[in-house]
Amino acid sequence: MEEMTIRENMRAVEDRIAAACQEAGRKPEDVTLIAVSKTKPVEMLREAYECGCRDFGENKVQELLDKYEVMPRDIRWHMIGHLQRNKVKYIVDKVYLIHSVDSLRLAEEISKEAGKKNVCVNILVEVNVANEETKFGTTCEDAKQLVQDIAKLPNICVKGLMTIAPFVENAEKNRPFFSKLKKISVDIMGENIDNITMENLSMGMTGDYEVAVSEGATCVRVGTGIFGARQYML
Ligand SMILES: *Cc1c(COP(=O)(O)O)cnc(C)c1O
Repeated sequence: MEEMTIRENMRAVEDRIAAACQEAGRKPEDVTLIAVSKTKPVEMLREAYECGCRDFGENKVQELLDKYEVMPRDIRWHMIGHLQRNKVKYIVDKVYLIHSVDSLRLAEEISKEAGKKNVCVNILVEVNVANEETKFGTTCEDAKQLVQDIAKLPNICVKGLMTIAPFVENAEKNRPFFSKLKKISVDIMGENIDNITMENLSMGMTGDYEVAVSEGATCVRVGTGIFGARQYML
């Protein structure tokens, strides 16, 4: 198979998002493509940046900081991986959105560190919709209470929900999980909780982002589909 460039990959993903939007009666500009650049070298991020990408997702604090230092300032950095409380202080004033908040203790730490830097951090509550043992995230049952508790904290603002669906061959298998996350967000919206919004639904990855878009995703997180397969050093 012929190698595709990052530019070609990005255009292909954008086209497929646009097509999924069209089919669902949604506007393409309502879906943000987050380029998940974890493990990839800065040169590859630069290439994506030159194609117009301004949203990058990373799952490790140190790697995000290293890339933050050398990449242009107008990038919106998305923390999408599990976040340890002792590392919160390094990123609160650098990230645009933390997608992976799944406990009140973590939210309290973010609130505290954000207060010290006099910033307000936007976060999503991660929900383990498929109830997978290997995944982080609050349960569907606990999501609303967690949002209510975080809503009372200063310097942190809930902007929606995130989920990581199971790895599947057939993306359609994840449709019920995406529609469940949407339903939970609508339920929470109905509670009229002060100081929060449910405007973001972060769901869908390389294997299933079109299905996620058709179920209402506003952010899709695509790594492999843009940068190619990842190689992990052991
Ligand atoms: C790695 C990762 C992605 C991107 O996965 P791909 O299958 O490569 O698109 C998306 N979301 C999270 C939370 C990730 O850790």
